[in-house]
Amino acid sequence: MTADAPPSDPALIAELTALGEALAARDDHADLAARLEWLIDLLILRGTLPASFRRLAAKVKGTGERSVVRLATFRDKHAIPSADIDCAARIPLCGGRCCSFDVTLSAQDLADHLPFDITQPYALPRTDGRCVCMDADGACTVYANRPGACRAYDCRTDPRVWIDFDARIPTPR
Ligand code: SF4
Ligand code: SF4
Repeated sequence: MTADAPPSDPALIAELTALGEALAARDDHADLAARLEWLIDLLILRGTLPASFRRLAAKVKGTGERSVVRLATFRDKHAIPSADIDCAARIPLCGGRCCSFDVTLSAQDLADHLPFDITQPYALPRTDGRCVCMDADGACTVYANRPGACRAYDCRTDPRVWIDFDARIPTPR
C-alpha cells in the first residue's frame, strides 16, 4: 500500500469526481460530504486513489455543516503499552466483556485491513454485541494489529467489568 499509488480504476475516479463536484455545489450535504470524505480516505489508504484526492474532499467539506464522524488519532498504535493482565485466566470470569465496548478505528487500523463497516465509519464492527474479531473462545483474532483503544484499555478499575479486580469478582452483567 502506498498513499500515492496510481488510481486503479478510471471509472471510479470519474464517479467520485462527479459526486464531489455535485456535492460541493449543494448546501444541504453535510452527511453525504462526510461519507464521501471517509470513503476517499479509505481508498487513499488502500492505495486505490492518489493522495491528491484529499483536495476533492476538502472542496466538498467547504460548504455546509459536517456530520460528526469519529476517527481515532493514535499516531502509532504499536507504541501504546498494554496493561499486564492475565486475560486468558480471567475470561471465564469477565467473559471478555472489554471486547463488547465501542472501539473507534484509526487510519492505521484501516491500513492494517481491520474490519470496516461502510455504514458506520470508523466504528469497529460488532455482531451480537461483541467485536467481530473475537473468536468463539474469546480470543482476539487480530491481536498483533488490534486497535489502539484495545491496547490502551485497562479493565482493572473499570466498574463495568470488575467489582474487585484483585479478588477476581466480576460485575454482574
Ligand atoms: S475484561 Fe479485562 S481481563 Fe477480561 S479480557 Fe478484557 S482486558 Fe482481559
Ligand atoms: S480487536 Fe481484539 S481486542 Fe479489540 S475489541 Fe476486537 S477482539 Fe477485543
